[in-house]
Amino acid sequence: MDRSEPPPEVAEGEDFGYRLFPERHSEAKLSFLTTSLFTFNHKCQVMLRIALDTNPYAQLLLDAMKQSGCTVYKDRHFACEDCDGCVSGGFDSATSQIVLCQNNIHQQSHMNRVVTHELIHAFDHCRAHVDWFKNVKHLACSEIRAANLSGDCSLVNEITRFKFGLKQHHQTCVRDRAIRSILAVRKVSKETAEKAVDEVFDSCFNDHEPFGRVPHSKSDAKYAYRDFQNRNRYYANL
Ligand SMILES: [Zn+2]
Repeated sequence: MDRSEPPPEVAEGEDFGYRLFPERHSEAKLSFLTTSLFTFNHKCQVMLRIALDTNPYAQLLLDAMKQSGCTVYKDRHFACEDCDGCVSGGFDSATSQIVLCQNNIHQQSHMNRVVTHELIHAFDHCRAHVDWFKNVKHLACSEIRAANLSGDCSLVNEITRFKFGLKQHHQTCVRDRAIRSILAVRKVSKETAEKAVDEVFDSCFNDHEPFGRVPHSKSDAKYAYRDFQNRNRYYANL
């Protein structure tokens, strides 16, 4: 689909089936629906733009993708859509498109994390031949990396870092989230998901590319982004 066209929600706004029931055709109701759908989509697009332009996690990943020959374009590779349940986003490997769930993302910080998480999947898809559907270990590895590097587990850390050892807790959080992510997208048993995550955990948890470290906060991510840029400047001069 050509994503530069106006969002389908707006185009379909006039046809909610109300015309079949003339007595239910309420101008107020129709315009409210059209407006709120448009607002959800518009708000999602605005937050996406802010994430891509200002969030250091996203910026680093966009640069890394570009360098790996997989340049990401806002209009072509992102879609703001309504999703079922409480899903926040997803990566569609068939189209290399990141779906952002406009009905479930309401805050900029949440948008930043979802964009980062899905960009890590896109990065893995770009750099390696990931078999998302047949090899559950491949999926497990990317989910471990996404949970570890996107900040998904950092907020929890802030709250509980005095209760548990920081490092231990971070690992537990990453493991749990990776297992839950697999169960959300594949029809496998909990045991299968746990086994896959545990088998690849050490190597995937310690693979910090393209960050070079675990960015626990936005300032960590800023340093990582600066180092990434310097690293490339250095290699470019060789
Ligand atoms: Zn994921």
